[in-house]
Amino acid sequence: MNIVMFGPPGAGKGSVSAFLVGEFSYPHIAAGDIIREEARKPQNKVRAYMEKGELVPDTVIMQLVGSRLRQPDCREGFILDGFPRTIVQAEFLERQRIPVDIVINLEVDEDAIVDRLSGRRMDPKTGQIYNLNTMELPEGVDREKLVQRPDDKPEVIRKRIEVYKKQTSPVIEYYRERNVLLNIDGNPELGQVVGSVREALQKVRE
Ligand code: AMP
Repeated sequence: MNIVMFGPPGAGKGSVSAFLVGEFSYPHIAAGDIIREEARKPQNKVRAYMEKGELVPDTVIMQLVGSRLRQPDCREGFILDGFPRTIVQAEFLERQRIPVDIVINLEVDEDAIVDRLSGRRMDPKTGQIYNLNTMELPEGVDREKLVQRPDDKPEVIRKRIEVYKKQTSPVIEYYRERNVLLNIDGNPELGQVVGSVREALQKVRE
């Protein structure tokens, strides 16, 4: 089963994907991670877009994600997180005959998005994500050692939300028309959101 995780930045796509990986053992393919890896290469063309909070050009991301999805580990299914983010990208999947069986659309209020993104920090050693605004740090985690993603700064957050509204949200309608959309309230704490996703998926698979 091919699953797309959809929603605005900070909706919890990565966290819900981690749950789905445990449930299905499919690979988790996060477009943002692919772009961050690309951005580490010398003379890359993607870092400037990312740092401004803009989408990288469709052709670039389609090539990167397309070749990842053609790897053998994706044959049984995948959890695709952060792609498609434009209608052009959604059409690309269709053209490449990569079916999308379910789109989990996490709906989150704008205030909560800003709160979550501005508090988001990563442990550079483990890659674990924490949130200073919405959770207590577990014992042993040193707040001072956590780092903030450069695009989680307030002015870039605003830009990313604007980009989501303009370029990405039309994709919801695209998948609604194809009857694969599952809307999930992404506002509650993670455990509750995961519960709703599990329930909705069960209904679909019955
Ligand atoms: P994310 O970690 O999903 O928030 O993505 C980080 C950044 O990577 C985005 O702000 C974009 O600059 C870029 N990016 C990720 N996914 C896409 C996509 N599907 N299309 C274009 N740019 C993307």
